Amino acid sequence: MITCPACGHEAETPFKFCPECGAPAESPARAHEQRKVVTVLFCDITVALGAQTEMLTSTADAFTDLGEVLRLAGKDDEAKAALDEAIARYERKGNVVGVRRARALAGYEALAGR
Ligand SMILES: [Zn+2]
Repeated sequence: MITCPACGHEAETPFKFCPECGAPAESPARAHEQRKVVTVLFCDITVALGAQTEMLTSTADAFTDLGEVLRLAGKDDEAKAALDEAIARYERKGNVVGVRRARALAGYEALAGR
C-alpha cells in the first residue's frame, strides 16, 4: 500500500507518479534526506544566531569545551584557535571569569595566582 503525499490517494502497487493527481510519490529515503537537510540548515541558523549576541555566552562555553577537549587530545593549535574564539566572545560579553578560564586553558596565563 502506498499513499500519495499530495492527494492521499491509496494504491496497492507502488507508483512514481500518483495515478490520481500526478504528484511524484515520495520515497522514504528522499524524505529522510530532506529531513537531514532541514536539520543541518537549522543548526547553521542556530550557530549564525549564536554568533550575533544573545547566545554569545553559550557559544563561548561551547568553544571553551571544544578547546579543552582538543587540548586533552594533544591538538594544541586547534585548541588554541577554539579558545581564542571563546575569549573573543567572553570579552564582547564582558565575562571576566570566562576570559580567565579560556586564557588559562589556552596556556596564556596560569590558573594559579587568581
Ligand atoms: Zn495524488
